[in-house]
Amino acid sequence: MSKVAHYLQEHLLGEVMTSTDARRYFATDNSIFSLPPSIIVYPRNENDVRKTARFAWQLAERGRIIPITARGAGTDVSGGAIGSGIMMVFPAHMNRIIELDQKSGVVVAEPGLMYGRLQQTLHTHDRFLPPFPASLEYSTIGGAVGNNASGQKSVKYGATKDYVRSLRVVLANGEVIETAPLNKRDLSKKLGLTTFEGEIYRSLDTLIEENKDLIEKDLTKDLLRNTAGYAITDVKRKDGTFDLTPLFVGSQGTLGIISEVTCETETYNPETVLFAAFFDTIDATCKVIQKLRELPQMPSSIELVDGHLLDIVRELNPNQLKGLVPQTTPAAALIVEFDDPNDRHRKKIIKHAQKIFAETALEYKEETEPDAQAGLWKIRQASATLLAHSEKEQKPIPIIEDGIVPVAKLSEFIQGIYKLFASLKLDVALWGPAGEGNLHVHPFLDLSQLGDRQKAFRLMDEYYTLVTSLGGSSSGQNNDGRIRGPYLTKVYGQEAYVLFQKIKQIFDPYGILNPGVKVNVSMEEIRPLLRSGYSLDHLYEHMPRS
Ligand SMILES: Cc1cc2nc3c(=O)[nH]c(=O)nc-3n(C[C@H](O)[C@H](O)[C@H](O)COP(=O)(O)OP(=O)(O)OC[C@H]3O[C@@H](n4cnc5c(N)ncnc54)[C@H](O)[C@@H]3O)c2cc1C
Repeated sequence: MSKVAHYLQEHLLGEVMTSTDARRYFATDNSIFSLPPSIIVYPRNENDVRKTARFAWQLAERGRIIPITARGAGTDVSGGAIGSGIMMVFPAHMNRIIELDQKSGVVVAEPGLMYGRLQQTLHTHDRFLPPFPASLEYSTIGGAVGNNASGQKSVKYGATKDYVRSLRVVLANGEVIETAPLNKRDLSKKLGLTTFEGEIYRSLDTLIEENKDLIEKDLTKDLLRNTAGYAITDVKRKDGTFDLTPLFVGSQGTLGIISEVTCETETYNPETVLFAAFFDTIDATCKVIQKLRELPQMPSSIELVDGHLLDIVRELNPNQLKGLVPQTTPAAALIVEFDDPNDRHRKKIIKHAQKIFAETALEYKEETEPDAQAGLWKIRQASATLLAHSEKEQKPIPIIEDGIVPVAKLSEFIQGIYKLFASLKLDVALWGPAGEGNLHVHPFLDLSQLGDRQKAFRLMDEYYTLVTSLGGSSSGQNNDGRIRGPYLTKVYGQEAYVLFQKIKQIFDPYGILNPGVKVNVSMEEIRPLLRSGYSLDHLYEHMPRS
């Protein structure tokens, strides 16, 4: 055991481990990369997090950098939850609901709390946290905040950033801060602090003032969802408030380590109406998505599954979708849900939806009973069959799984993806929250083969060229991590990228916090981290949907 591990063991309440097995276990997340940590820390409380950060900072002051990577359940598909230094694993101990205000629905939780457990608890109080990822049963609330996760309800309810009210964060030097919207008076108090926190507020405020035009330009403002880069546009608001919260949400542990999350929740209404509608062209499907978005009330889900996915599933598991999907495979299916708690409003909106589907779809089904609805959801959840499938060494790999474009460009986006896959002679299948312009695509590749590795990088280059040519972003949900970090300049341009680097520098001047993730990451750095055998390790206790 190294001197650093010894020191931490002596000073922390939580456990410290350096065993080969544990290091191997934490060397992977759900990305295509592998990078073993040198030390694993299971913090018992915020003080352990604070002491670890403080120690790493003191070493950095003396020229020795030991990175710290915060980790929830490690389901990150971008390589954001692996790192070469200290792996700080939250689910072991820091996994409690600290407080749930039944009246307001505001919940305070530790970052290692499993999202699914939180959701179950909220349901018993007729509440829910809407931006749940498909991985909610095996991922944490800290990871959702780290990635700014979103999911099948986000088309109506928004992403994690829309629900996080405040955070407790351990800064790179071990100081603990609490974030929340500050009015002018509170901001000037922060600006006057002589601490690292004060330094951060001062530097960030200056940076925002100096880059006002660039920030206001916000090249991604036509997108309904975006997790690429840092959310600097949301820090200094038009109403005069200043809030660091949105900057930490989605920052993948590169600006600070979250030790407590305070979230708002919504009233839960399990009485929903669910449609599955089938279309003969992609263009018709995308036009319907636009129409649904223009309804007086937004559907609570608009999910797309393309005909290629349906065909693949039919071939692999012939009975899985029996009776649910037309005999002749449609170009695409839409799964559309309405959850308005008001009966009269819901009936009215359903009539609008029925009219749209009657006029445009090859056929459609409508269900209100939970079991029948679960049947229709199976169409969307067919993606699990594809994700879990492997043929010899070929696996569906997450390298371009999360592009997003303005909804008006969705049809062009899908046709572009089909063309790209055809040019590389790869099978294609796509699905996901198309109601927001976001799609998931997983090419089948064997990363142990040089040819497929080269194909993977060519595919990424051409795919992100397509996405950005349509005014899109490389990531709608799954964040930059290591895999998409090198494409940030493509999405935002060089000037905005430099701004992101400056933000990182302000919060983490020594490069301790999850280095190699999001910013300052190059293709040359990530190529050697590619693992030859990709698999969804640890996820088969659940259906690993995406
Ligand atoms: C099959 C599958 C389906 C998925 N579906 C979705 C989906 O629908 N929507 C979606 O958004 N994502 C999805 N994901 C991605 C991922 O599961 C989610 O982003 C999830 O919220 C991550 O949670 P986690 O606990 O696994 O976090 P981790 O993977 O452990 O961490 C995620 C990131 O957050 C950082 N982090 C974790 N804890 C902290 C902390 N305390 N402080 C600071 N930073 C922290 C990590 O460093 C890392 O960069 C999916 C992944 C898989 C494998």
